[in-house]
Amino acid sequence: MSQARGYAAQDAKSPLAPFRFARRQPGARDVHIRILYCGICHSDIHQVRDEWGSSTYPMVPGHEIVGEVTRVGAQVRRFKAGDLAGVGCMVDSCRACPSCQAGLEQHCQKHVSFTYNGTEQDLKTPTFGGYSSDIVVAERFVLKVEPGLPLERVAPLLCAGITTYSPLKRWKAGPGRRVAVRGVGGLGHMAVKLAAAMGAEVTVLSGSKSKGPDAKRLGAHEFVLTSRDGALARLAGRFDLIIDTVCAPHDVNEMLGLLKVEGALVLVGASPKPLEVGAFPLIVGRRILAGSLIGGIAETQEMLDFCARHKTLCDVEVIAMKDVNKAYERVIRGDVRYRFSIDLATL
Ligand code: NAP
Ligand code: ZN
Ligand code: ZN
Repeated sequence: MSQARGYAAQDAKSPLAPFRFARRQPGARDVHIRILYCGICHSDIHQVRDEWGSSTYPMVPGHEIVGEVTRVGAQVRRFKAGDLAGVGCMVDSCRACPSCQAGLEQHCQKHVSFTYNGTEQDLKTPTFGGYSSDIVVAERFVLKVEPGLPLERVAPLLCAGITTYSPLKRWKAGPGRRVAVRGVGGLGHMAVKLAAAMGAEVTVLSGSKSKGPDAKRLGAHEFVLTSRDGALARLAGRFDLIIDTVCAPHDVNEMLGLLKVEGALVLVGASPKPLEVGAFPLIVGRRILAGSLIGGIAETQEMLDFCARHKTLCDVEVIAMKDVNKAYERVIRGDVRYRFSIDLATL
């Protein structure tokens, strides 16, 4: 065991505060990583505050991790000390079930070890995330990060990047396809950049007028303020695909109406409260309502390589660890352009 430092929530109501805990010694196939940056995902806030009803404490959040490899186990082949490394939302899975075999570890049929607020494969050792000094992860779940990139802008790709890349690919965002992105936060701004890089025509659907001027720079062809009278009616039947990143209850029927025949509305936003779906917006136009959860490990590597090639990195505001609670309040107010990235050197 080695001592790690981090910030943890002790319950759903208290602010995050300094916390000391143990990390395991790296086993033969493990990689020990000194964490450099960790993004703040809205999922961190949902879980710290137990909004999904699945939280365990103490909780060290953080699943958008970039760091430097410090030590590796004897059988590790892909990493050596000094390499850059990324860790996303998972640190292990059963590796044997049909989902794992298909590279869909996030849908492991036995047990996904989420990076925090989860357990290792023994089902009892708690996992602690990236708001911390270092982490030990099985080589198989560690991603390669290309040198020379601004790492604070790479870290949030490990969740915001893959969560939007995966459904964009699956639902064939590309030339000749019209894609809308609902909600321009951490996930949404990456969905816009990635869909544009894939060659799609991108429309931003946002409730924040102040984000309008950024839309073109992010790669969107059009910005639509959802609250403006008649703005959505004008877009009826227009899109092949909508990526919906909204983190709270909202009207999905209105979104379904914007789809072409057989178009797909893909929810990635994880509203803690159920959404109401009418039958008619689905059956008229044979439309599809789908969901998507992060992406598998191989696809996450593919996304990192794509982003390095296309220079589609996150827009971030770097913060010190001690400012994390203030940052949470700002995320909730929608006051972030577009991701906070914690500099762990300030821990
Ligand atoms: P975020 O940065 O807070 O962005 C969410 C955006 O949704 C906001 O910027 C805002 O965009 C819009 N929004 C917020 N409250 C709203 C409301 N009440 N009604 C309508 N729109 C609202 O959050 P994030 O980190 O991108 O995460 C978004 C959601 O995805 C969260 O629920 C998170 O837990 C979930 N998530 C899911 C996965 C997955 O695998 N499926 C992975 C990561 C995160 P505008 O100002 O542009 O309207
Ligand atoms: Zn996340
Ligand atoms: Zn499995």
